[in-house]
Order: sequence, then structure tokens, then C-alpha cells
Amino acid sequence: MNIAKIFLNDFRNFGELDLELGTAINIFLGKNAQGKTNILEAINFASLGRSRAAKDFELVRWNVNTALIRINFAKAEVSHDLAIEIPSDKRRRRILLDGNVIKFRELIGKLNSVLFSPEDLFMFKGAPAARRKFLDGTIAQASPIFFVELTNYNRLIDQRNNLLKKIRDGLTAPNNLEIWNEQLAIAAAKVTIKRRATLDKLNILANAMQQKISAQAEELSIAYDMHGLQDLDSPQSFDLNYLADWYYKIFKARNFFDIKRGSTSLGPHLDDLQFFINGKEIRQYGSQGQIRTATLALKLSELQLLKDSAGEYPILLLDDVMSELDSERREQLLAFLLRENIQTLITATEKAYFPPQLTGKIFYVESGTVRETL
Ligand code: ATP
Ligand code: MG
Repeated sequence: MNIAKIFLNDFRNFGELDLELGTAINIFLGKNAQGKTNILEAINFASLGRSRAAKDFELVRWNVNTALIRINFAKAEVSHDLAIEIPSDKRRRRILLDGNVIKFRELIGKLNSVLFSPEDLFMFKGAPAARRKFLDGTIAQASPIFFVELTNYNRLIDQRNNLLKKIRDGLTAPNNLEIWNEQLAIAAAKVTIKRRATLDKLNILANAMQQKISAQAEELSIAYDMHGLQDLDSPQSFDLNYLADWYYKIFKARNFFDIKRGSTSLGPHLDDLQFFINGKEIRQYGSQGQIRTATLALKLSELQLLKDSAGEYPILLLDDVMSELDSERREQLLAFLLRENIQTLITATEKAYFPPQLTGKIFYVESGTVRETL
């Protein structure tokens, strides 16, 4: 996957931008608040059809009513022209691929990108939901059906929870739970199997990456933490029937307890991930640089997984990744990206982060304008 050109019109602080990218590393330098992150956000928006954090109207330049993102990219050596119009009011977005209007859901999987942003660093210390979201997002990019399965599971949880409250309030009979427990058990087993299978792959890839960037100083491992349950670490745990039956017994055994609390107390919606560097949990012991390295290792593993499923690397977007990495780690990272020929956009405030032999196309960003330096 390769982006040749990006055009922005009234997107964030860009009035008009017309950018030709290099095929390998693209560096965006500039002072704070100049628009570096906004460029990466535009690409990530075009790839996911939404912003990770912002509402649509926030993306449109102040006092203007429509923003445009237009990207020329090649996928499997076929060129495409993707254009997205983002209105600042209630009008609908328009998405055009090669001149034809497409639906939001048809956009997913067209332009693949992986974004590292400073917000990702909070994943390790924050609530379990962020870690589940990371894993689920990784699975869904490579296998969109997982999204459907996860949504189905969450819907069943909501329905079971409503029923639990009704039973508690004497509005319906407890034996109505039976049918929900059965359906929920199958949905839970499907989610758990995919999470574990992906985690097994991530574990190997992320550890290799952590070692590479840290020059063999650090090992990274990830454990799946089944909320409130003994881990079931047998080959059978990948068998759908076995696991569905296992969940069914668990849900059933908790009926009484769950009715009292009015919600489902166990299941994939509460599971978590634990991250370890050299056997010590990152949450308690990770240094800032280790956390940054580990985040990077996970993102690069996600990249690798996407390559395995799609046949080519997605676009890599690294926002402010260089600060807090020591020079050795920075060089390992750049060398890896160049070796693998991964088209990358990196933002940074200092040119000094990039040794002359490990660089690419360099752009300066200043109040919504971009200038290429030769
Ligand atoms: P840093 O180094 O601090 O991360 P940056 O170069 O990445 O800076 P961006 O986040 O890309 O900065 O750009 C921020 C600038 O864009 C801010 O000055 C902000 O006020 C401006 N901005 C954000 N949204 C809009 C908008 N809708 N219209 C106009 N300007 C906007
Ligand atoms: Mg920024």
C-alpha cells in the first residue's frame, strides 16, 4: 500500500494542501501547533471513515462548511482516488472511490493505516476497556467479521442485563435466563477464541519487535486475563463447542449472583490484557521509554498482521514517537522501516532525531502550510 498524493481542503488548519509523498519515510517537522498531527489525522480518517477522537465538525476549518480529504493511493499495484467530503453541519458525508459514491461501510479496508499517537501510551495504565479496544481493533482490521461477532456479543450482554434486572424486580421469571445463557455462551466463545488466537500471534511478533528496538535488552509478553476466572490454558480452549459449553456452565452458575447485581459479572466484556517487560508488569514498573517502545512494538506487530492478511504493509503513521526514545532505539526503528520498505509518515519537532543515513523526504510544517526541503 502506498500513498502518492494527499490533497486537503479546509481540513483543520489547512486551507489548501497538495502533497506528494515519498515511497518510504516521510518526515514532518515543525514547531508545536502547526498542523503536523492534522496531516496524519486526515489519512487515518480516510482509512477508518472516522476520527479516533474528534467529531466531524471539529475537522472542518473554522467558519467554513465543508472539508475535503483526497488521497491517491495504490493497493495491490492498482491506483485509486479516494475523496471524502466532511460537512460541518447535519448534511451527510460523501465518499467517492474512483469517482463513484460508496457507503461508509464499503470504505473500511480500502486504505489501511496504522496510527501510533501519544494517546496510545495511556493504554497500559488506563482502564481495561482501552486494552480490549486495542486487541479487538487489531482483529477487526484483518477480519471485519469479528466486528459483527463482537457487536452481537455486546447486544446479548445488554439484553441479558435487562432481563436480570427484570427478574430482580419480580417482573419476569428466572427460567427466562436459560435461552440467553445459551446464546451468550456461543457468542462469548467466538470472541474469546479470536482474541486468543490473535494474541498468540501478537505475542511472538511484539516480542521480536521489542527485542529489535531495544537491541535485545527487553522481552515483551502479553497475557490474556479472563476476568474473575482461572485461565483455561488447554488446547480445548480453541474449540468452539467446548468453550461455549464451558461459558454456558459459568453463566448458569452465576445466575443467582447476577440477578442480585443486575448485570453479567463474567465474560469477554470484562477481560483484560497484561503486559510484561522482562517479566515485570508494565503498568507498575514500565519507564516512559519502555512504554513508548512497547506501544511501538505493538503497532508494528499490528502492521505485520495486516501484511500477513492483506499481502502488503498498510501505511504507518507515527505521531510524536521519537521523543523519549534514546538514539539507539530511534535508529533501530528507522533502520527497520527502511529495510522493510514501509511507507511511513513521522511527525517530530526536531530534525536531530533523524540521522542523515536513516532519513527520507523531509517536510516543514508551519501554520497550515507544508514546504518540502531538499
Ligand atoms: P504538536 O507538535 O504540538 O503536536 P502539531 O503540529 O501536531 O503540534 P496539530 O495538532 O496538527 O499541531 O495542529 C494544531 C493546530 O490546528 C492548532 O493550532 C489548532 O488550533 C488548529 N486547528 C485544529 N482544528 C482546527 C479547525 N477545525 N480549524 C482551524 N484550525 C484548527
Ligand atoms: Mg501533534
